[in-house]
Amino acid sequence: VPRTTIGVDFGGTRIKAGVVDGGEVEKTESTDTYGAPADVLDAIAMVVRRLETKPDAVGVAIPGECDAAGRCYRLPNVPGFEGVPIAAELGRRLGCKVGVENDATTAALGESLYGHGRTYPSFAMVTLGTGVGGGIVIDRHVRRGAHGFGGEIGHVAIDRSPNAPRCPCGLHGCVEAFAGTNALLGRFQALGGHCADVLDIAEAAGRGDTRALQVFDEMGDALGWMLTNVQNVLDLDAIVFSGGIAASFSLIEPSLRRTLRSRAHANPLGEIPLLVSALGERAGIVGAANLCAT
Ligand SMILES: [Zn+2]
Repeated sequence: VPRTTIGVDFGGTRIKAGVVDGGEVEKTESTDTYGAPADVLDAIAMVVRRLETKPDAVGVAIPGECDAAGRCYRLPNVPGFEGVPIAAELGRRLGCKVGVENDATTAALGESLYGHGRTYPSFAMVTLGTGVGGGIVIDRHVRRGAHGFGGEIGHVAIDRSPNAPRCPCGLHGCVEAFAGTNALLGRFQALGGHCADVLDIAEAAGRGDTRALQVFDEMGDALGWMLTNVQNVLDLDAIVFSGGIAASFSLIEPSLRRTLRSRAHANPLGEIPLLVSALGERAGIVGAANLCAT
């Protein structure tokens, strides 16, 4: 009997689950993220059971951090989850082994096993969205960190001036405060543009709108400062981008590369391959399903 492993992408608004075989997602189910933690956990168990009544293993990618036992430290977009033992609670509901991990780290795991990681053993995964997430893979091992906070590159500080912008994490000057979705929308508005969605800014940039082009140019520069710091420490084989805005990566790449080249401690560090995820949207579910296998 083949093993049935299910990956769950537990997002702030939607819960998506898929039966995963290797690097492929075979069928999916989803539902809204709604209610108190117990209701959300019931909803996750329900979408998993819709796919498979007796799964062998389930992995869950969360938009926050947890410890090695799957107890949640922080989940900023879903209230009430601090301290909830997510893995134990879901294991009880589903009767199988459940692994829980940060979503960017999970995406890095998927990419490591079935995407660019097959060519580049050491890389940083950068997830671009509401937040700027990250995962670090060194010699094919995902570095989750002593407390589950490894690879949080969205909170690398790139501005230490007294008026540095506030990051959603509460500190000031993090790269997320420059390159997260809300920062981009705010910057576009400050330049006189009007958009409700970052994809609209990308569309405007595609039409040659100079304000939109400037937003992405500045975003690339901010990411370039952060990635220069990462490169100066780790000297990686590649940097991989995922998330909705990664589809517009060509708008970000020129300024990102320019900043990397001008700021890197040594020339080769600035020439690192900059890639868009080979797995795209399925990196999170694929990685989550593989949590219990590694
Ligand atoms: Zn921050």
